[in-house]
Amino acid sequence: MPDDWKDKIRCSFCHKKSAEVKKMIAGPGVHICDQCIELCNDILAQERLATSTEPRLPMWESMTEEQILEHLPKIAAVQAQVDDNLRDWVAHLRTRDVSWERIGVSLGMTRQSAWERFRSET
Ligand SMILES: [Zn+2]
Repeated sequence: MPDDWKDKIRCSFCHKKSAEVKKMIAGPGVHICDQCIELCNDILAQERLATSTEPRLPMWESMTEEQILEHLPKIAAVQAQVDDNLRDWVAHLRTRDVSWERIGVSLGMTRQSAWERFRSET
C-alpha cells in the first residue's frame, strides 16, 4: 500500500488523521477513531441511565443557523472521503480486469455511467 494512506484515512466523525489517533476502524467508505468510539460509549452509558428512549437525531431545532452552517463542510468532507474510497475500490477491481458492466450492476448503474464516473483521467 502507498505511504500516503495514513494521511488519506480520516475519522468520518471528527476528521482526525489516522496518524493522530490510536486506532481507526473501517466501515464501508467511512472510518471511526478510538476517541469517537469512546464518546459513543459515553453517550450510550448516559442513555442507559436516562429514562427516555426518544431518538435525538437530527437536532436542527436546538441548533442556530451558524451551527448548522458550520456543520455543512463536515458533511461535505465525509462525502469527499466516501467518494475517494469508492473510487479506490473501483480502481482496484479494474486492476483485476473486472468489467465496467459488472461494476455498474453492483452500483445499480449502467456500464456507461460507471465508466464515466470512475474511469481514470490518466
Ligand atoms: Zn474520530
